[in-house]
Amino acid sequence: MIDVFNPANGTLVGRAPLHSAAQVSAAVDRASAAFPAWSRTLAKQRSELLRKWFELVSADRRAFAELMCLENGKCVAEALGEIDYGLGFIEWYAEEAKRVYGDTIPTHASDAAVLVTKEPVGPVAAITPWNFPFMMITRKVATALAAGCTIIIKPAEETPLTAYKLLEYARKAGIPEGVFEMVTGDPVGIGERFTNDARIRKISFTGSTAVGKLLARQSAGTLKKMTMELGGNAPFIVFDDADIEQAARGLVAAKLRNSGQVCISPNRIYVQSSVHDRLVARIKELVEEIPVEQGLQERFVVGPLINRRALDKVAELVDDAKAHGAKVVLGGSAHARGGLFYAPTILTELNDDMQIRSTEIFGPVFPVYRFDTEDEVIARSNDTEYGLVAYAWTRELGRSFRLSRNIESGMVILNSGSVGTASVPFGGVKQSGYGREGSHYGIEEYVHVKYTLMAGLA
Ligand code: NAD
Repeated sequence: MIDVFNPANGTLVGRAPLHSAAQVSAAVDRASAAFPAWSRTLAKQRSELLRKWFELVSADRRAFAELMCLENGKCVAEALGEIDYGLGFIEWYAEEAKRVYGDTIPTHASDAAVLVTKEPVGPVAAITPWNFPFMMITRKVATALAAGCTIIIKPAEETPLTAYKLLEYARKAGIPEGVFEMVTGDPVGIGERFTNDARIRKISFTGSTAVGKLLARQSAGTLKKMTMELGGNAPFIVFDDADIEQAARGLVAAKLRNSGQVCISPNRIYVQSSVHDRLVARIKELVEEIPVEQGLQERFVVGPLINRRALDKVAELVDDAKAHGAKVVLGGSAHARGGLFYAPTILTELNDDMQIRSTEIFGPVFPVYRFDTEDEVIARSNDTEYGLVAYAWTRELGRSFRLSRNIESGMVILNSGSVGTASVPFGGVKQSGYGREGSHYGIEEYVHVKYTLMAGLA
């Protein structure tokens, strides 16, 4: 069994199975055997099963939230937010299942018709991270099932309990064995098994860029369709014409969500020189109002980081910045509570040569950089291997369009700190990956296009 610990205090929360290679292969066998019949079920039937799953989980969202708090460390308030976001994918794809339309194309021969249909790609294997233990799973499973694919999920070892609870509720809803499977255990072995098996037609991965590249390399032999939701290095740009109060609030909410352990967390905060000091002072006030504690309570708190490695990485990045001249406006070290808590930290007087500029921080740290011109900040924002999301605050319409056009990222968020909902296409460019999740674009990742020529009709 895999032991699962509460990052807030190190206590044992529960155990998940450590599946053997034979058990993983058996799950692939079941997903593969179930595919032909599942892919031919009526869209309405798949939709009804998803809807039932949505209703059963919705009725117990509090129990899911408390479990997530225990195994992931996020507070209940945030867990409930994630659950509503994650349930949104089940609801959305229960509806979208019925709308996987094809095309007819004007014929190129007078005795022929051209049909284009969308078919489910086949059995899918998906690997998910620990930072959103609920939503990462629903947004892959609901989309795959809606499209007519079967799916095997390998959740992160840190947070398998929420995943197994979702599976349990899927079974209660009538989603059968084979159609939705789950395995846990040695990630390397499971990844190899998924990628080497020709019956798995698609890999959907959310996690680090390094592991994404490894899975892409491993999948070359069987040439699978892939969705890659990888790391980020989000710029958060505040121009001097912005509503500074709203920008400060948006920044603090976006940054402290999940204690900063989010792929779309603002990672480089660029503030126009004339409003720099005002914004820094305001975010300091806002951050100081938020308690740092374990999260089994109603209010929003900053919780622990997921493990010791995560804490050490954040400390190393902050220490490197300090050693190279950064000014600590707030925090700057592990929190006095000890354990895996890192103090919310604001750093200024940073330069582009520090490690923290090019590395995904994954912690409650606000690195604030000054800029002067629009061209300069666009160039600096794009100076990264990543391209997941960029945030910008301005009230000028022309500039908004220029930012949308010129920033190299899959998502550009203007005048808000909030990105996600089921109805929008989430995903990145460059080394943040490819493919989209959510919206009608998301389902395209689980189907292939079939062209049928019907000639001889004259
Ligand atoms: P990670 O890549 O280490 O782990 C993610 C998943 O991959 C886990 O389930 C893990 O067990 C598995 N894994 C690890 N090594 C593997 C291997 N060799 N073969 C197969 N599977 C393997 O990432 P992490 O540190 O746990 O998660 C944080 C990363 O995820 C960050 O880089 C973050 O930006 C990224 N992320 C991206 C998105 C997105 O949508 N773009 C969302 C959340 C997190």
